[in-house]
Amino acid sequence: MIPASFDYVRPQSLEDALAQLREHGEDARVLAGGHSLLPVMKARLADPGVLIDVAGLEDLSGISESEGSEGGVRIGAMTTHAEIEASSLVRGKCYSLVEAAGAIGDVQVRNRGTLGGSLAHADPAADYPAVVLAAGAEITVVGADGERVIGADDFFTGAYETALRAGEIITSVRIRASAVRGSSAYLKAAQQASGFAVCGVAARLALDGNGVVASIRVGVTGVAATAYRATSVENALMGSAPSAESIRKAAAGAGEGVDALDDFYAGADFRRHLAGVYTARAIGKAWIRATGK
Ligand SMILES: Cc1cc2nc3c(=O)[nH]c(=O)nc-3n(C[C@H](O)[C@H](O)[C@H](O)COP(=O)(O)OP(=O)(O)OC[C@H]3O[C@@H](n4cnc5c(N)ncnc54)[C@H](O)[C@@H]3O)c2cc1C
Repeated sequence: MIPASFDYVRPQSLEDALAQLREHGEDARVLAGGHSLLPVMKARLADPGVLIDVAGLEDLSGISESEGSEGGVRIGAMTTHAEIEASSLVRGKCYSLVEAAGAIGDVQVRNRGTLGGSLAHADPAADYPAVVLAAGAEITVVGADGERVIGADDFFTGAYETALRAGEIITSVRIRASAVRGSSAYLKAAQQASGFAVCGVAARLALDGNGVVASIRVGVTGVAATAYRATSVENALMGSAPSAESIRKAAAGAGEGVDALDDFYAGADFRRHLAGVYTARAIGKAWIRATGK
């Protein structure tokens, strides 16, 4: 299908992009990789009059060590899935993000689609939301009122809805490094055709010197209209020295009480079941990585 006609602008700076967004208001949309926006436009579910292409803006690009003592990583919003997958820096700081990036769609999608575009689109079946929730990532955005940082816990507000305000652009995502005895993992049950998550789970944990869980966060995507943290699972394992059995038992709660999606790909009960199964697998994998077993 062919989208309705639109104007295309390519600002040369972030300030210019923000000015264009202000000028065109609700008629304008940011264009990143175009791999979610253009399909929606072709289906005539959106018909913006102006696309503001933010490709090439320096403020939105690059992967680097983030400033501060915690040794994390800053990833520009325009970083593609393929660049994240190939980054040894990201792999060292947040293994699960590399795993999620490598599991997105196909080569073409991974070469064009971006981290910022995926987060802003907030598809209920997208992979990154689970990872940024588990990582406790911070999403930096800029708009007419300046810059602000949104914690991942506050970012996803509904299906295709986020805490982004009109005229704001995501510039980067910051993730703290895994603890010395810590690691993360991302696993998903994928839709066969697109690769989107029917259920995707990211787990990130840190162990103290005695092998006791000092911190743990679990993010689940694809199961409900909005990605969520499996806090009952986190609480059950926090402060314990986990075993395969205790992980499986705790993980069973990941889908409990969740208003699960029920569609062509999977029924609600099956999705809740998958949440438990994949949570156990993701925590188990992160735990094995953290212990080096
Ligand atoms: C065949 C196919 C398979 C796919 N499979 C998967 C999959 O398995 N898993 C998965 O997670 N995703 C999948 N996707 C989606 C893919 O990851 C998209 O690339 C991603 O969701 C959107 O990124 P984009 O850079 O293409 O954004 P765009 O399509 O350019 O933009 C998406 C939305 O975000 C807004 N936006 C973009 N950048 C910014 C920014 N910096 N600040 C504010 N707003 C912004 C746009 O205005 C638009 O509303 C698939 C897509 C296709 C076409």
